[in-house]
Amino acid sequence: MVTIKKDFIPASNDNRPGYAMTPAYITVHNTANTAKGADAKMHANYVKNPSTSESWHYTVDDSVIYQHLPIDENGWHAGDGTNGTGNRKSIGIEICENADGDFEKATANAQWLIRKLMKENNIPLKHVVPHKKWSGKECPRKLLDQWSSFINGISSFNTPPKESSPTYPLPSGVIKLTSPYRKGTNVLQLQKALAALHFYPDKGAKNNGIDGVYGPKTANAVKRFQLMNGLTADGIYGPKTKAKLKSKLK
Ligand SMILES: [Zn+2]
Repeated sequence: MVTIKKDFIPASNDNRPGYAMTPAYITVHNTANTAKGADAKMHANYVKNPSTSESWHYTVDDSVIYQHLPIDENGWHAGDGTNGTGNRKSIGIEICENADGDFEKATANAQWLIRKLMKENNIPLKHVVPHKKWSGKECPRKLLDQWSSFINGISSFNTPPKESSPTYPLPSGVIKLTSPYRKGTNVLQLQKALAALHFYPDKGAKNNGIDGVYGPKTANAVKRFQLMNGLTADGIYGPKTKAKLKSKLK
């Protein structure tokens, strides 16, 4: 779970207008601030400053989410005027692009947040929109040219990004049946990855045959995997088999 820290703009600020809102849309922005340290916390402080005129609901970086406004109140982030639908009916989310942050991670965290907000507020995916929709501004500038994959990422998001699933490092290079048999960590990694996809070197044997030795049974597991995945079934582990394993283990 990514932590959402509530750090609301003081009610006395001009940028907290306090109009009641029933959110019908989610508007996505990029901060357009690439400075080091321009993370969610920094934006939380910025938006609380009484001289700041704009406001939005959440800022997301690669490790945390700050909430600046309750979602039943509007903010000024869409650039479509005092009575604009963007400003008055949408939840504004800024995704950080600070140089010392991981933008992909921040984007994944935003996708997780959007999914949660969609569920909680009954907002359909087609109402998740770029800032550009409301005002024509080139925002979110880093996501506009990949908007459909950003949207696809929301709908296919089934687990929170911080919930770690086991990862399977895969060796590079070629591993094949040799005499004597190749042994070592590389082979072990490969066997574990294959086993995670139910291609065991020796199902039912001790530890399903996962022993770090590339013998005929492991070569056969590779061969079965290749056969089932449209690859040349030669029992030789190389770049193509690696790529396919990687895509299956996602
Ligand atoms: Zn924007």
